[in-house]
Amino acid sequence: MKILVPKVNKNYFIYFFASMLVVLIIIPICFTRKFTFNQETDNVEQKTEEAQIDYGVKYKTINLLHKNDNSVETIELEEYLVNVVAGEMPVDYELEALKAQATVARTYTLYQIENGKKHDNADICDDSNCCQAWVSKEKRFERWGENQEEKWEKIRTAVYASAGDIITYQGRPIDAFFHSNSGGSTEIPVNVWGGTNYPYLQVVETSGEENYSQYYSEIELSTDEIEKKMKEKYNDFSINWNEEDSIKILEYTESSRIRTIKIGNKNISGVEARSIFGLRSSNFTFERNDNKIKFKVIGYGHGVGLSQTGSNTLAKEGKNYKEIIEHYYKDIEIQNIKN
Ligand SMILES: [Zn+2]
Repeated sequence: MKILVPKVNKNYFIYFFASMLVVLIIIPICFTRKFTFNQETDNVEQKTEEAQIDYGVKYKTINLLHKNDNSVETIELEEYLVNVVAGEMPVDYELEALKAQATVARTYTLYQIENGKKHDNADICDDSNCCQAWVSKEKRFERWGENQEEKWEKIRTAVYASAGDIITYQGRPIDAFFHSNSGGSTEIPVNVWGGTNYPYLQVVETSGEENYSQYYSEIELSTDEIEKKMKEKYNDFSINWNEEDSIKILEYTESSRIRTIKIGNKNISGVEARSIFGLRSSNFTFERNDNKIKFKVIGYGHGVGLSQTGSNTLAKEGKNYKEIIEHYYKDIEIQNIKN
């Protein structure tokens, strides 16, 4: 017994210290690690959830206002975009150009929702002069005539192949302006609408725009018509057509559009001249023949952001939709709202 007791005591102490080691050190470490790990996992899950609330759920459907009957329709975002792309870009354009247009339209939609909606009862409307074009399948089919289903499927493919993709600058959707034909060079927004410039909208050159019917147009007006149109805008307008510089271009913008043109006693912007005389763009020259003025116009639209015919040219050259977007918008990222 005398020999055994110390042995038991020894073992007892060994077990005691071993138990204390487990209870005081190892178990707390395990718990702490587990706890910390769980906390990190929870944070990740929470962030993912927020992102889903922010984009996935928030923008899964949109409320579309139909201007003709003032009804509001709830549509899945991607389904809505099929009708938008059908209304905004010719279906015979390259698939990558249509995908770029779909991404632009998706970005525009989210930008409108995030930056103050234009309508109280809806996210966006179907009027291209207010928000962006939206055309019903039935209406589009009437215009297309033949191979309607095939054409519709091509647009659906473009939308769903880029599903969820939006263009962001510093993590937020950009104001994704686009137009028909840049005439070879895009314009910066301040030269069109005044206000501030956007870092992602710069002057961008694209070759091949001249191969489209949208590139060149002419409008001929009589001197009487010009006087009438100017007087509708300015009741103190006067002009002496006998003066050699009765009409004269004074200044050009960074993209070679007209910044200022003198017409009689008024100096107006190229953008205003475009609006007054119904020209396709503010990039024009003019010729005078007696009492006729012929405006020769390059490009179609305000010229800011993505050019549709330019996008089609780039797609024909083998560029994909992301490369097309990166050509027209600077320092941007293409992010997917589903991720
Ligand atoms: Zn609208």
